[in-house]
Amino acid sequence: NAAGRVELDAVIMEGSGLRAGGVAAIGAVANPVSVARLVMERTEHCLLAGEGATEFARANGVAILPDLELVTAAALAEFEEMQRFPTSVKTLFNHGLAHDTVGAVAIDEAGRVAAATSTGGISCKMVGRVGDSPLIGSGCYADDFAGAVSTTGHGESIMRLNIARQISLALEGGAPPDEACAAALANMRRRVGGCGGAICVDRTGRAAA
Ligand code: ASP
Repeated sequence: NAAGRVELDAVIMEGSGLRAGGVAAIGAVANPVSVARLVMERTEHCLLAGEGATEFARANGVAILPDLELVTAAALAEFEEMQRFPTSVKTLFNHGLAHDTVGAVAIDEAGRVAAATSTGGISCKMVGRVGDSPLIGSGCYADDFAGAVSTTGHGESIMRLNIARQISLALEGGAPPDEACAAALANMRRRVGGCGGAICVDRTGRAAA
């Protein structure tokens, strides 16, 4: 973030029981999706944020690392560049910069689906800024009646249109995965001008990126 600290967002969801867990603006943990899974499995909540999320991780045996252990040389260079030349987040995304999100979608032989998304968000973001990634229906969605979806891109656009849920609904209606992703992203571009991407697998195992 702009103060030079690590803040991470992550989410996980499974499609049989629609169970989900997320962490927003959590401190430096090595595997934020694993903490999101702990939220899903060990709490009655879907999303923990900030210090509460970091404390929850610590209390559940997850190591909180020194920030710099999670910062690569490239990320540091990008951070310094952005401090020197501040620009809007949307501009960065629309030029293909600032993307660092990792997504995963899966289906097993019984047709059960799951999705997860993990990100450092964007370099030099405002302290406390949370993107789409930990938000169910925006950064990911999983539903055995539809498929599993994980998104990346301009969070402030993705969350306003619930892109993962939109794609999921299209899959539920039988749309081919590539068309479902392309249509939702084109609509986002048209309506709010933001760029993004998505990966998905539908309930029959067809995948698209
Ligand atoms: N969607 C993420 C965010 O806005 C960033 C990314 O996908 O690279 O935080």
